[in-house]
Amino acid sequence: AEVPTRTPGLIGRLLGRGGQQEVLRRTLDDDMLEQLEELLIASDMGVDTALRVTANMAEGRYGKKLSVGEIKHLLSGEIARVMEPVAKPLPLYAKKPQVVLVVGVNGSGKTTTIGKLASQFRAAGKQVVIAAGDTFRAAAVEQLQVWGERAGVPVLTAPEGSDPASLAFDAMEKAARDGADLLMIDTAGRLQNRKDLMEELSKIVRVIRKKDPDAPHNTLLVLDATTGQNALSQVKTFQELANVTGLVMTKLDGTAKGGVLVALADKFGLPIHAIGVGEKIDDLAPFDPEEFAAALTG
Ligand code: GDP
Repeated sequence: AEVPTRTPGLIGRLLGRGGQQEVLRRTLDDDMLEQLEELLIASDMGVDTALRVTANMAEGRYGKKLSVGEIKHLLSGEIARVMEPVAKPLPLYAKKPQVVLVVGVNGSGKTTTIGKLASQFRAAGKQVVIAAGDTFRAAAVEQLQVWGERAGVPVLTAPEGSDPASLAFDAMEKAARDGADLLMIDTAGRLQNRKDLMEELSKIVRVIRKKDPDAPHNTLLVLDATTGQNALSQVKTFQELANVTGLVMTKLDGTAKGGVLVALADKFGLPIHAIGVGEKIDDLAPFDPEEFAAALTG
């Protein structure tokens, strides 16, 4: 997978890129800090997080003259420090099958992410089963079947409009029968009717717990990084609907506004298991805080 490129990054936009700019020294004063805050806010970091990051950066250094390189280094260091605790790959337990419930609004990249994850786990020698739990969207089921074929993973489907919980139950049985390591269950992403969605999700959980009281072992929320601050309200909503245990951030290849990841880490502290960096099957990368911070700061 390619590393997302964002040129110019925050500092690049503020101070110009590379070259002789690198030797300029700037005083870390109120004016400078305000400009940095504005840039961080424009990157979707949110006001609270932006203020905290700049305050930490200025601590013990206020009024000092710093080179552009030093400013970049300090800022990316502060951002990486916020991100480090959340950078964790999806844990694989010995338990078979490990059940991962995948939630998120339509269009966030759920289907694509399930396909990419299935492919990665297959490559690691794991046996994977996918359940196409968004039974109301025929197109979503078809898409998931295409991804299943690409990844070489069976996709369990049910007739359009049928009960996703009953499909999930069948999938639990199939995964156990096949000795699968991992079962990923796709779910509907219609937020228009929250009550229905909540009932649907809790019914799926109730039913799979008949087979394994610890399931789902992970509930993965897929978020589109290009939706900016909207991602924060989606986390809140899905935390009310399900017991979200981790995030995958998609479409980080297409945005200079990845600052929302910092706001998410700061506010919720949920693990970021992976990032989507393109539309292809290999375009899912582990989340690397230092690389991310350096790219964002630029
Ligand atoms: P779903 O409705 O949540 O299942 O979303 P899909 O998986 O169908 O994805 C919606 C659109 O986003 C599709 O066009 C995908 O190709 C695209 N997409 C998903 N993940 C990424 C990503 O990481 N980068 C880019 N550029 N596009 C993505």
